Amino acid sequence: MSKGTINVSVDNIFPLIKKFLYSDHEIFLRELISNATDATLKMKHLTNIGEAEGVEYGNPMIEVKLDKKKKQLRIIDQGIGMTKEEVEKYINEIAFSGAEEFIEKYKDKNGKDAGIIGHFGLGFYSAFMVAEKVEIITKSFKDEPAVHWTCDGSPEFTLEKADKKERGTEIILHIAEDSTEFLEESRIRELLVKYNKFMPIPIKFGTRTEALPKPESAKEEDPDSAEATSDEGKAPTQEVDNIINNPNPAWTKLPTELEDKDYNSFYRELYPMQFEEPLFHIHLNVDYPFNLTGILYFPKMTNDMSIQKDKIQLYQNQVFVTDNVEGIVPEFLTMLRGVIDSPDIPLNVSRSYLQADGAVKKISSYITRKVADKLKSLFNSDREGFEKKWNDIKIVIEYGMLTEDKFYEKAQDFALYPTVDNTYHTFSELKEKIKDVQTDRDGNLVVLYASNKEEQHSYIETAKEKGYEVLLLDSPIVTHLLQKVESSEEKISFVRVDSDHVENLIKKDDEQISKLSDEEKVSLKTFLDGVIPKEKFSVQLEALDSNANPFIITEPEFMRRMKDMQKTGGGGMFGMGGFPEMYNLIVNTNHELVSEILNTKTEKKKERLVNQALDLARLSKNLLKGEELTAFIKRSYEMIK
Ligand code: ADP
Repeated sequence: MSKGTINVSVDNIFPLIKKFLYSDHEIFLRELISNATDATLKMKHLTNIGEAEGVEYGNPMIEVKLDKKKKQLRIIDQGIGMTKEEVEKYINEIAFSGAEEFIEKYKDKNGKDAGIIGHFGLGFYSAFMVAEKVEIITKSFKDEPAVHWTCDGSPEFTLEKADKKERGTEIILHIAEDSTEFLEESRIRELLVKYNKFMPIPIKFGTRTEALPKPESAKEEDPDSAEATSDEGKAPTQEVDNIINNPNPAWTKLPTELEDKDYNSFYRELYPMQFEEPLFHIHLNVDYPFNLTGILYFPKMTNDMSIQKDKIQLYQNQVFVTDNVEGIVPEFLTMLRGVIDSPDIPLNVSRSYLQADGAVKKISSYITRKVADKLKSLFNSDREGFEKKWNDIKIVIEYGMLTEDKFYEKAQDFALYPTVDNTYHTFSELKEKIKDVQTDRDGNLVVLYASNKEEQHSYIETAKEKGYEVLLLDSPIVTHLLQKVESSEEKISFVRVDSDHVENLIKKDDEQISKLSDEEKVSLKTFLDGVIPKEKFSVQLEALDSNANPFIITEPEFMRRMKDMQKTGGGGMFGMGGFPEMYNLIVNTNHELVSEILNTKTEKKKERLVNQALDLARLSKNLLKGEELTAFIKRSYEMIK
């Protein structure tokens, strides 16, 4: 047996490791299993290239074993193992210097950046975050004796011969008092599923009972492999290795090897609690100028953007890293699901650095382009199907158009503008369709839209009667998007149907003649101003078609947009919640009722007519509620009795 001192300048590195990695203790298991995987893959490589004569690669697996009584957690692999010299070099020198470098780097940060520290890959020494003593028993594939290394967390270690016969490495962690959670089977299982679900070497954790495959004939039944007997009524079962991972996940395969059903079943594997099928998938596969594979899925989206994020999982060579891909994929795509696997994404840096990193920028724009291409090809190959999916995916596309200029350009080919009657136009189709009827006297093309078919029903109907096309744009960010479309197109404006009377939505030259004389108008206006609450409505007399409603409430497009934008963030000109509830009340001077109001002699009756007409106008804009609605109903009954 030999004793030694690890050559480090930091006196006792382990308390520091603990301190700085506090929030991320659990990653030790990922690190150790990654090492075991690397060692196994190296063995595979060496046998493949003929550099390990006489060595059988076999079907190696990694085993994780728990012994709660002994307070031990063991990780056993059948990889290349290490000779005595290799342990001295890799464990005592290299690994330790890695740990030391790490501490130096993060000493001053007081663990503030803890989230990213876990991605540093501290490696083997992260075991000391949870163990008070660590042993390595390892036997190299080379014809050399096995060795046994022990270290209790001080810079001293012991190294002696061991009698391990099989190739590979066994790491024994003596779990510390403050880390007994890692002696719980459920906790270890949770970690294995979180970090190692798709690692390339099978990982065994205990055994499980499985139904025995039905023997073809009773003769072939092998009594030795059956744990439970074929007792009357009981299906025969056997104990099998409990393999917790899928070593060949779909994204590591070629798109040509997979069918839709394979993509869907992989989705289920990724999100076992998700019962809806994804709408479609995008298989990512590049090897130049960076390496990246992955599968992204478009799930059904709702209009609530915030709850849908952080579903994409980031892997590095099949090792789970994080489900926060912010900075790596453009923000609008964080609403998608799936996996991205890249050895080229630097993980040991902060997020702000990540966003400025050249490789990461390229990855982000590659992903954006792939998504746009996929959407375009879906649109081209099956427009009807694409239209059917539109409402479930539009939030991502609209958000992408708003935030990524490149995507905005590409989206011109497939972004859809549905009408209230479920006809879907691209923007250029829409322009072509409406240009004759909806160009105003100044040559501006006015696009009319509604945000809610029920609430804006009467306005929609009036616009349709005039031969106008009305879009239904109802996502929460639509106001922001319209601003963007208006600023990138020439002479186009969007106007919501209830923002003005139909004659004013698209101003044409034909002026209507007013039935009322100027004096009558003054007298009417004075009366209305006396009755209608000034703080809520601004009264405007207009000479409209005599068939149009007598009173119409509108909300100017500008005001409404400011309110909308304030609700969804941005545009905070008036500070928090500073918008007054203010509407225009348009009074149609050509309507019979308005003449009647003017000609009614008794003040009381006149007032009642005005209030009734005002309430009807409010009713059609969904503004009549509570006490006022009750009063309206009461008044209406009185009027018809
Ligand atoms: P890294 O894995 O980043 O190189 P580690 O500190 O995790 O750093 O490990 C240091 C070295 O120790 C590895 O590069 C490898 O050579 C050796 N090593 C660690 N674990 C094993 C193992 N299970 N089998 C064989 N070699 C190992």
